[in-house]
Amino acid sequence: MGALATFARSRHLWLMAVRMKASGGCHCGAIRFRFETSIAVELLACNCSICTRTGFLHLIVPHTDFALERGEDALTWYRFGTGAANHLFCSQCGIKSFYQPRSHPKAWSINWHCLDEGHGLEASILPFDGRNWETAKNNLDTGA
Ligand SMILES: [Zn+2]
Repeated sequence: MGALATFARSRHLWLMAVRMKASGGCHCGAIRFRFETSIAVELLACNCSICTRTGFLHLIVPHTDFALERGEDALTWYRFGTGAANHLFCSQCGIKSFYQPRSHPKAWSINWHCLDEGHGLEASILPFDGRNWETAKNNLDTGA
């Protein structure tokens, strides 16, 4: 491995290891949350029927690293298909800033587009073939 590649790799590993705090919320401000994650994050771009319509870009954060600061009473929800995912959205402005995904039962999926500006996170995007959900989930779990 060349010096530059070695540097890029060690920088990436460092960014994966260092933890950062970030925050976000819905459009009207009724819903606000904060969470902790690594600086380098991998976002899932899902092509399923609902993610396509909302343009949702998934940042998966364990429940334990997430705190809803306000807006629990403003949240409403929508379920379809298996009903395993709970699609939460703001009853005032309609924005889905985070929700309970089927793919990660112990984590929230935060909408990358709903983070506050200046968060400093570095994102790479991984396609998730949600139209063929079982295969996509299996590939995700096995790293295929
Ligand atoms: Zn709102």
